[in-house]
Amino acid sequence: MICKVIVDISNSEVDRIFDYSVEDGLEISKGDRVLVPFGNKKLEGFCIDTAEKSDYDVSKLKPVIAKLDDFSCISEEMLALMRFMKEKFYLRYIDCLRLFIPGQMRGGRVRELKRLYLRLADGFTDEERQKLIPSRARRQLELVEKLKEGGEYLSVVTEEFGASTVNALVDKGIVEKTDKPVYRKPYDSLDCDANKVKLTASQQNAVDKILNGEKTVSLLYGVTGSGKTEVYMNAIDRVLKQGKTAIMLVPEISLTPQMLRNFRARFSSGVAMLHSGLSQGERYDEWRRLLSGEAKIVVGARSAIFAPLKNVGLIVIDEEHDASYVSESNPRYNTCDIARFRAEYNGAKLVLGSATPSIESFLLARRGEYALVSLPERISRHGMPRIEIENMSQELICGNNSIFSRRLEAELRKTVENGNQAILFLNRRGHSSFAMCKKCGYIAKCEDCDVTLTYHSVDNMLKCHYCGKRYKMLTQCPDCGSKEIKYGKIGTQRVVQELEKMFPGVGILRMDNETTTKKSAYLDILGAFKAKEAQILVGTQMIAKGHDFPDVTLVGILDADMSLYFSDYRSAERTFQLVTQVAGRAGRSDKEGLVILQTYSPSHYVYRYAKNYDYLGFFEKENNSREVTGFPPYSTILRVLMTGEDDETVKNCARNMFVDIRAYELENKNEFLFLQAMRSPVARIERNYRYQILMRIKREYEEEVTREVYRIIEQNKTRGVSVFAQINPQSMS
Ligand code: ADP
Ligand code: ZN
Ligand code: ZN
Repeated sequence: MICKVIVDISNSEVDRIFDYSVEDGLEISKGDRVLVPFGNKKLEGFCIDTAEKSDYDVSKLKPVIAKLDDFSCISEEMLALMRFMKEKFYLRYIDCLRLFIPGQMRGGRVRELKRLYLRLADGFTDEERQKLIPSRARRQLELVEKLKEGGEYLSVVTEEFGASTVNALVDKGIVEKTDKPVYRKPYDSLDCDANKVKLTASQQNAVDKILNGEKTVSLLYGVTGSGKTEVYMNAIDRVLKQGKTAIMLVPEISLTPQMLRNFRARFSSGVAMLHSGLSQGERYDEWRRLLSGEAKIVVGARSAIFAPLKNVGLIVIDEEHDASYVSESNPRYNTCDIARFRAEYNGAKLVLGSATPSIESFLLARRGEYALVSLPERISRHGMPRIEIENMSQELICGNNSIFSRRLEAELRKTVENGNQAILFLNRRGHSSFAMCKKCGYIAKCEDCDVTLTYHSVDNMLKCHYCGKRYKMLTQCPDCGSKEIKYGKIGTQRVVQELEKMFPGVGILRMDNETTTKKSAYLDILGAFKAKEAQILVGTQMIAKGHDFPDVTLVGILDADMSLYFSDYRSAERTFQLVTQVAGRAGRSDKEGLVILQTYSPSHYVYRYAKNYDYLGFFEKENNSREVTGFPPYSTILRVLMTGEDDETVKNCARNMFVDIRAYELENKNEFLFLQAMRSPVARIERNYRYQILMRIKREYEEEVTREVYRIIEQNKTRGVSVFAQINPQSMS
């Protein structure tokens, strides 16, 4: 027998299928991991097929050394998915296969499979415990209360309560760690709650339409707080009752302990969780439970789409517009395409849910490719908080040069004095910034593309990320002549400093990439804010969604324009989504909320629609402008990125590919809207030089052209140059 193997090295030159012989007595099937001789090494690999014959001389084939696991880890479906991904995204086989298994399995690193479990030690009375725990150690007391309901995995507890709390209780002997998971009790109290909810008529209708409609894909468009999660859970429930399985994807940032607990409460041990809080061993454990069929639902971030479930009946992508669903480093892929593949393969349903759907998805729904399912009403009686727009140019004219408008400062003061809480939001994306006149709001844009130019401090130039055109830095506003040109952006740190001066003695928390390099830090900060240890929280995108703080009555959006003028055709869409989401943080309980949005472009249409929460109006306007300018969804942007250590080599490779693509374009003029080769906006990362070929292709020719371009790339592959493709990338750096 012959075994067709992909070896585990990420290198374009060996991303081929190698034939090996299989000696008698060794049983290997499609989807097994194997150990094979390769050159003078032994490498791990994946058997992706078996055959009777080979194109090579069988007697000269080397034999497979061993089978690595005692189970098969890649299903037929995943092998088909691998081929699909290679074709669609120009990926290497091996980079796809690596996505399908837990990292720890590679290199035989799976050792400890047991999960540490935490439970209350026997033999203590409540009184004895109280004596041992100081009454100010609130977290310790809370943890004891929680463990009274049943034991819990150590990692889950640590994530929620912090290691110091856990260790303090272990040291006192009140709780104990065991490494044998006792039967895991679902959270009884929550369980009841979860079942009590009776779906509203529109929720019920949504579930029916999603599961029984004729379309594979549904877009669940429901305003924030309309009860989408309840719809997902009900649909999952029904699918399980048919003996099928389900995949539920959420942005990483929404995987809060609360959300995980809700799913646990509802589905008990039938649900596996894949999130960044898990250790390698736990991740492996959860993956095995999915593979064996013990767990029938997976809840996780983007990569959970590759969960080894069979017989999938439903896939949910919550917050479908979220940028995190597009992988922006190798392997680059769009989760939605993978989800569609898996849904079609399994005859399953796919739901894309959002309060602010991407223009792309909503257009497809309008055209009838997706079923449009709406939840127009909030469950609670409270409306969305009022949004007020503050004109920052006007502030400047009146002599206020601070980051805060006078109105925002006054409202902050009121909030603090009333004992309520405020969130101040700073817009951040990537490392780039734009050039803007502080007086009249003029923004430097590309003459050809009408997208905002990005300021690159390294060479002190403004660049267009869509055509590569370069411009001199502005020193004076071409519209009003003012010399007050703003480059760059304000940092969270600076905001906190200003606040400390304004409100001495008031607790202020800061949350951004710097303060939250660890996931636990992120949860700690949110926990502290919820516990009212601070009155003001300053943060970036991270605080925009999902969190429920009942005492927050004021939300300030400090520099709304940041994303509006990000060099990206999606910038208006992103801004609308962000404003809607951030605004949703205010006034969630019975207290009325207020949102103050600071901008230098108060009359921009995005703010007009966002202020009224008018998604449909915004969609019409934005959809129109995409059609006129020829950006997605009316075209497809294809970016071929080449990187390598030798500048000349990479440049030559780019040139060769470009010549061939250009020749193809000349013969097929009407398929292309744009084609250009250039240095990447970020011309060098670490030691690698970067070039790119940018194309905008008419939508209806997307498949044809990408196939041809990939063929050309393949033909021009050069040693020392890595080539990647991106379809509608989120960022062009
Ligand atoms: P969304 O995901 O659309 O923003 P959620 O699913 O978070 O909304 O629901 C908002 C709130 O409404 C939650 O607290 C949820 O428990 C509650 N809820 C949802 N459906 C119902 C229902 N049918 N009856 C009562 N409360 C509900
Ligand atoms: Zn100006
Ligand atoms: Zn341009």
